[in-house]
Amino acid sequence: MSTPTQTRTKPASGSKQRQSAPPSPAQSNSSVRMGDARKYQAWVAKAAKQPMVLETVDLGPLGMEEVEVKVEHSGLCHSDLSVLNNDWGMSQYPAILGHEVIGRISAIGPNAKGLKVGQRVGIGWSSGSCMHCHQCMSGSHHLCPQVQFTIVGHRGGFASHIRSHWAWAFPIPDTLNSADAGPLLCGGITVFSPLAMYAKPTDRVGVIGIGGLGHMAVKFAAAYGCEVTAFTSSESTFDDAKRFGAHHVVVSKDSAAIKTLGGHFDLLISTVNVKLDWDALIGTLAPNGRLHVVGAVLEPIPVAAFSLIMGQRSVSGSPTGSPVAIETMLEFASRHNIVPQTEHFPMRQINEAFARLEAGKARYRIVLDADF
Ligand code: NAP
Ligand code: ZN
Repeated sequence: MSTPTQTRTKPASGSKQRQSAPPSPAQSNSSVRMGDARKYQAWVAKAAKQPMVLETVDLGPLGMEEVEVKVEHSGLCHSDLSVLNNDWGMSQYPAILGHEVIGRISAIGPNAKGLKVGQRVGIGWSSGSCMHCHQCMSGSHHLCPQVQFTIVGHRGGFASHIRSHWAWAFPIPDTLNSADAGPLLCGGITVFSPLAMYAKPTDRVGVIGIGGLGHMAVKFAAAYGCEVTAFTSSESTFDDAKRFGAHHVVVSKDSAAIKTLGGHFDLLISTVNVKLDWDALIGTLAPNGRLHVVGAVLEPIPVAAFSLIMGQRSVSGSPTGSPVAIETMLEFASRHNIVPQTEHFPMRQINEAFARLEAGKARYRIVLDADF
């Protein structure tokens, strides 16, 4: 898979692209509600590790370049749990979590481009970037130093409405259903990006951790044509991993089994947030192989210089993906019919849903359905 291009490509069948023409005057007049502060409902975390409570919130006036989306479904990513619990020390309370959102545009700022009221869109981990720095101007908006995380210092999608900069609201291809497409906007792009950046269809790819991100990684890598090995700590996941497209399954905590795979993988994508036998896992990389980390493990990953030098191996990481990468991923998911396997809860059961994710019971991505 080549690196996503930085120009918008011609829409493929089934894909929904932004409109190139500006909205008609009538359309824009009816859609703009500038300066009109409005009250909405949201599930609010008041402090770390506290249950969320339903509140009325005032989103204030809509920004000139913002769109507002009436939320229909919002996936529950492990990062929501980490921000709720302040695991990363960067949470801001009160917090409104939820960053895998599907809904329809309910209002649009006068300078928002290429979208219209009523259009179905998705919003992921980022909901704004400066649009003028070197990273934004070169298409890597997700690496903008001022990128706005949707759930830190911004109100997320476990709410009746959410807002984002227009460039971070993505039209959803018709072929993807609203109930299940949300997790593609964070979990999906996060595992698609390393495949797009580093893998060839002939590669041997290992996916470590078959949770929300990992099961989508297996589906993407299999659809791309790779030989896929799933590493899971739970034998009860073996059959599902094969159903998602894995050719082989290995127990992620079985160092002896891992060591039998020495020199095998071109790319290993780690989605776990726990310490594993990293030395054994790096030993499974083929010459020029890469361990790519997307799971937010807090303990350092020790790397011996010689295990990199001798096989010319790499260790790397990445955050979600750029707007063009997200559009490319949605097009690929649409073409190959890739959606996460989901469990649905009404949003009023948000605290039960978080508890289920925290207990490691989600199979494989929880989605909360708006019920305001
Ligand atoms: P998840 O659904 O909870 O899945 C995590 C998986 O890790 C589990 O399903 C499990 O896989 C494995 N795991 C958990 N505890 C384990 C343990 N004690 N020993 C061995 N394996 C264990 O989480 P997720 O939503 O996929 O998110 C995964 C990580 O990615 C989180 O840290 C999240 O914050 C991060 N993330 C990063 C980005 C990014 O931009 N880089 C984006 C989104 C999420 P098995 O059951 O197969 O063992
Ligand atoms: Zn996420």
